[in-house]
Amino acid sequence: MSLLRVNWLERGTIEGVKVLLVEDDQSIADSVSASLTTAGMVVEHVATGKASIDYFVDDICDVVLMDLGLPDMDGLDAAKKIRETSSVPIIIVSARGDELDRILGLELGADDYVVKPFSQRELLARIRAVTRRASDHVATKDVSLLKRLHVDEPTHIVTLDGNEIEFTAKEFDLLSFLASEPGVVFRRNDILEHVWDTPWYGTTKTLDAHIASIRKKLGSPDWIQSVRGVGFKFVEVEL
Ligand code: CA
Repeated sequence: MSLLRVNWLERGTIEGVKVLLVEDDQSIADSVSASLTTAGMVVEHVATGKASIDYFVDDICDVVLMDLGLPDMDGLDAAKKIRETSSVPIIIVSARGDELDRILGLELGADDYVVKPFSQRELLARIRAVTRRASDHVATKDVSLLKRLHVDEPTHIVTLDGNEIEFTAKEFDLLSFLASEPGVVFRRNDILEHVWDTPWYGTTKTLDAHIASIRKKLGSPDWIQSVRGVGFKFVEVEL
């Protein structure tokens, strides 16, 4: 986590958040840039997938807004590439609602998505949601009693039997939230509210996709058990 992020998380605002805007349409880029800058964010704009990947070679940012339709490559491929080296929150910007299944199906680890045309308010809410997560559950949970799994809030590092497992920012929040109280069943709505900040259409599907991905990474579906009609509970799987 960058120092910048720690500072603004503590302030609880999105002021000073550094956004990498990946958008080839100059007029959209201009209007989004203007909105974000007005809200106090710092915007870096690139127009190609390659430029967005190159950006991370020697720079960092707090959140990526990734357009799907880029001139040189699919935005999802660029996002995947970025994900190989960075756990930065990525918000996919899609022109069509019917692309959602495709976005969710790829398990690329996007943290959220917005569909064009989106309002400034919606976009700011998304950015706020994906970026404030890191400060959300700190100091309220004690996952130290788990034997095999260690979820470290300050560093966002998760280890299973001593081996580090890479989770996306959202997956980390979700796992950390559920693992904070092993055996306790959390309702879907409560999970959505805590982890995604605000319930909105399509989020239930997003939740399921994230649960599936976490189970896969932990090597067993038993870590997060579905409770029919209610929600999910975390259970530490014995060796
Ligand atoms: Ca485009």
